[in-house]
Amino acid sequence: MKSDVFIIRSRARTHDSPTQRFERLIHKIGLDHIKEYQTVAVKMHFGEDGATGYIHPSYPCILGKLLKARRAKPFLTDTNTLYHGFRANGVDHHELAIRNGFAFDVVGMPVVIADGIRSHSVREIPAGPRHFKTVKVGGAIWEAENLITLNHFKGHLLTGFGGAIKNLSMGCGSRATKQRMHADLKPEIKVESCIGCGECVAVCPVGAIHLEEGRVEFDHGTCIGCAECLSACLYGAIRTQWSGSSRTVQEKMAEVALAVLSLFPNPVLHFNFLLNITPECDCLKWTDNPIVQNIGILASTDPVAVDQAGLDLVTESTGLPDSALPDGAGEGMEKFQLVHSQADPSVQLEYGETIGLGSRDYRLIEIK
Ligand code: SF4
Ligand code: SF4
Repeated sequence: MKSDVFIIRSRARTHDSPTQRFERLIHKIGLDHIKEYQTVAVKMHFGEDGATGYIHPSYPCILGKLLKARRAKPFLTDTNTLYHGFRANGVDHHELAIRNGFAFDVVGMPVVIADGIRSHSVREIPAGPRHFKTVKVGGAIWEAENLITLNHFKGHLLTGFGGAIKNLSMGCGSRATKQRMHADLKPEIKVESCIGCGECVAVCPVGAIHLEEGRVEFDHGTCIGCAECLSACLYGAIRTQWSGSSRTVQEKMAEVALAVLSLFPNPVLHFNFLLNITPECDCLKWTDNPIVQNIGILASTDPVAVDQAGLDLVTESTGLPDSALPDGAGEGMEKFQLVHSQADPSVQLEYGETIGLGSRDYRLIEIK
């Protein structure tokens, strides 16, 4: 069965603001299921220190205003990261959210880091069917009566792209669950490319990399598969079994996303922001040029459909010059795979559909 995916385009053909258009999109998909005094977890990514591609605070500000008009109790939320950075514990994470523009005075909603200070405020819930029996999710997400995901749609080194499925899974899972999703990723050194700079050693959160006489060695028994060393190495000297690890990570993501959705009897709304469509995720400390023009914002209650629609719209777009794309990346070419050839982004959609997370078949409805 086709799922409805609503779209509001970013091109300003009238003089209404992007946030006014976002408000029309919210009205179209509707908030009627959210009742007075109910809590609403608004799940998003606050960006890393130094990154600028994340969703602009003006958008959650509008959503918060509409939710409060219904006398609901919305809060902005995210979980702590597996990797080092400014979001690895609840204190730094909250501070970074404020520095990146998500202060209460701006967005009108408090920030609650869902899994607490050290990712111990979690709940274990049933999951499945192939990779997990149970998974742990942020306690504040478990406690909320409603969930809305705001997803910056962009590329990702390991999963091809990140959208609603990724925000539901990596975004809502505890650090332990994130680690279990990454567990199959085992990095190896390409000796001929390594210059012995030690950057990978510095970023490894568990001390699984040793540099001895200029030679890098991995302790795979200690490695938690966080992929931070892969991002840190500027010389392409670290490789992994990409095809297998990307497929397994994406299947695991779909299972965690399904488990998270099972917590909510009410519809969960997903908004994919096809704005600043960067080649890499917002966990990095830098932001590259976008790979295609801004497209707009999508909304759906189906995470698979909203991600499939996002992927199709990026594929239909023309690649931008001076971006991570190769020259000649035209309409009809799958852009994320051109950037991340090791990751087939369709796996999370295919497997998600197979396990009942949603439908790849959708009807795109334009909001004027
Ligand atoms: S970051 Fe890359 S180049 Fe530097 S030591 Fe590690 S593997 Fe070698
Ligand atoms: S060695 Fe393993 S734990 Fe350390 S940064 Fe690389 S992937 Fe992460």
